[in-house]
Amino acid sequence: MPKRLNLVILGKQGAGKGTQCERLSARYSIPHVSTGDILRSAIQVDSTLGRSVASILDAGALVPDDVVIKLVEDRLEELDARGGALLDGFPRTIAQAEALEDLLGDDGIKLCINLEVPTELATQRLSTRRVCQECGSIYKETDVEAISGTCSKCGGDVIQRADDYPDAIRQRLEAYVSSTEPLLAFYEARGLLVTVNGDQKPDDVTVAIQSEISLRGLG
Ligand code: ADP
Repeated sequence: MPKRLNLVILGKQGAGKGTQCERLSARYSIPHVSTGDILRSAIQVDSTLGRSVASILDAGALVPDDVVIKLVEDRLEELDARGGALLDGFPRTIAQAEALEDLLGDDGIKLCINLEVPTELATQRLSTRRVCQECGSIYKETDVEAISGTCSKCGGDVIQRADDYPDAIRQRLEAYVSSTEPLLAFYEARGLLVTVNGDQKPDDVTVAIQSEISLRGLG
């Protein structure tokens, strides 16, 4: 059986992870596993999980480790993740990273891509970001879809995420520094970390990430 391509993408909120993950997922035929998307879907369908995490997401705080670890465990058991997965938003704490190592065993993470952007740029991107509630497409506040409130791809409602308001943005970026940044050293120590400048055109970011992946003979 071919090796699994398990990739982790790290970076502040607003670094552009979602955009890059869509492209990389298509390019390497591995599913984009975003814990934020899974949690938001649970909230939208009003499941027990959704009801238990809704206020945490609105505040921009972190969902307990055991909850997200179980979500990822279940997701990685699905058929489409057999050849690997692109993990976005997970791991976010050292405890999650250790759980992921246990989960994947020998065929573990092949590369951790750190998409780096300055905090001011991240804040600006988040506060002007609008999203389609149905298909997740991302727009800027000045785009016609954001102004009309209607997604041009699926007709869904285009809104400002509750956690893209200033207090929640601040809280999320603080959580990133205190809980997630330590993961850079975690993956660096394993020789798996590569840093890519996220402050360039999306196409250039994609090229930079793909060349890091091919440099390592991973794709
Ligand atoms: P962002 O990175 O822009 O904050 P995400 O879509 O990755 O957005 O996550 C949205 C929210 O979902 C987070 O603020 C947090 O409340 C929750 N969440 C997502 N992934 C995790 C995780 N791995 N651990 C804890 N909470 C998480």
